[in-house]
Amino acid sequence: MTDASATTSTDIAHAISAIETSCEERGLSLTPLRKRVLELLLEAGGPVKAYDLLAALKPNGGAQPPTVYRALDFLTKAGLAHKVEALNAYTACSHGDHADQHTDDTAALFICGRCGSVEERHVPRVSGDGAPKGFRLERSVIEHYGRCADCA
Ligand SMILES: [Zn+2]
Ligand SMILES: [Zn+2]
Repeated sequence: MTDASATTSTDIAHAISAIETSCEERGLSLTPLRKRVLELLLEAGGPVKAYDLLAALKPNGGAQPPTVYRALDFLTKAGLAHKVEALNAYTACSHGDHADQHTDDTAALFICGRCGSVEERHVPRVSGDGAPKGFRLERSVIEHYGRCADCA
């Protein structure tokens, strides 16, 4: 995220309401906790570790770890967030407000090894070509490691 500071609370509110509409159309239920977790990811503007999410959620209602992990599971499966395996963290999908149009895409995450920033692009699905016979592919994430433009 090169201009994460440009993300205002108004932008986030807009993104969330677009995501809510998209979820309704897809028949997905964005519960208050799922929505709050997504808000936290959008506010962070970059990857967030699960335990930081837990800490942020503690003051209001003290969400239990399993419920937070289930919320993250829902968000990743719905294509609204991606798990960044390399950092063991989560990031809001940059296409979350129109995730329904990206169900056949592969999310490509460009991870800077120096500052830890993650830029996301969606690319036409590539990994399905080599899938074993009979394998039903649901989603793909590719992680690219290197240096971002600021750190290169
Ligand atoms: Zn994405
Ligand atoms: Zn960097």
